[in-house]
Amino acid sequence: MNEISWNVLNNNNLTAAGRLSMALDEADAVLIGVGAGMAAADGFTYAGPRFTESFPDFIEKYCWLDMFQASVFDFETLNEEWAFFSRFVDLNYMSQPLGESYVRLNELLEGKNYHIITSNADNAFEIAGFNPDRVFDVQGKYNLLQCSQGCTQKRYNNEALMKKMIEQQNSMRVPDDLIPYCGECGAPMELNRRNHTDWMVEDEKFCLDQKLFNNFLDENINKKILLLELGCGYMAPQVIKHPFQKMTENRSNALYMTVNLKDYSMPHEIRDRLVWLQEDIKKLLSDVEKEQQFTKMKTYETEH
Ligand SMILES: [Zn+2]
Repeated sequence: MNEISWNVLNNNNLTAAGRLSMALDEADAVLIGVGAGMAAADGFTYAGPRFTESFPDFIEKYCWLDMFQASVFDFETLNEEWAFFSRFVDLNYMSQPLGESYVRLNELLEGKNYHIITSNADNAFEIAGFNPDRVFDVQGKYNLLQCSQGCTQKRYNNEALMKKMIEQQNSMRVPDDLIPYCGECGAPMELNRRNHTDWMVEDEKFCLDQKLFNNFLDENINKKILLLELGCGYMAPQVIKHPFQKMTENRSNALYMTVNLKDYSMPHEIRDRLVWLQEDIKKLLSDVEKEQQFTKMKTYETEH
């Protein structure tokens, strides 16, 4: 294969937004990995007032530090567990507002050949109007239920049930008759998300999304491909970060661009095709949009 060069790697005077803007323009395909840092940039954090204002009773009882600790907590009863999770689903899915950075990202990708893989299970991509066929929710969805024993490869929408649980809970307990059990085996149901052993229920829809993702890779892996990582930390690097780095290592045409405030160690093998932008995602995407509008204006002036 011919060596493909990236102009962005030879332009050291550009701002962070200038570099991302240029990389987007030069790429023939863009694969985007989105992690918790992108949600946090839009204020959808797991700590702070968003957490403390939604769960004051639970925090008083269990002294939780953040919503992550809470979401893996070993509850005494299912009544209490669902009192927590119904509010959790409401906060992170049903009532989560539109995220500005997601709107920007959608605008920046308009007309481009792209695909997204995300470890976030919230509603951010849906309400920002992304084409669902281009977004692969690899770690599950908060608005879906699965059998905790995985006896059947089905996922069920939980939103109507969560609403009832929120309305009817009292002293951090939902009534017995709202607790969901599997219709096939009788085991308790749980939210569709990957557990500590990397397991979750993957239904037909999930497999179809996975196929669309793999098709995109097959069709574009030999093109000039930008692997853009937005806010992926080290919670589960095997999902996005490590595969992105491996793909970059294996493909001389790929450019790996990671946007993250934290300095994670990078593999030596890809140092020459790696760009780390230590930027706030919200500000960066806003600046890239301005940059793109400016470039368009300049092109228009030259052509007319
Ligand atoms: Zn079951």
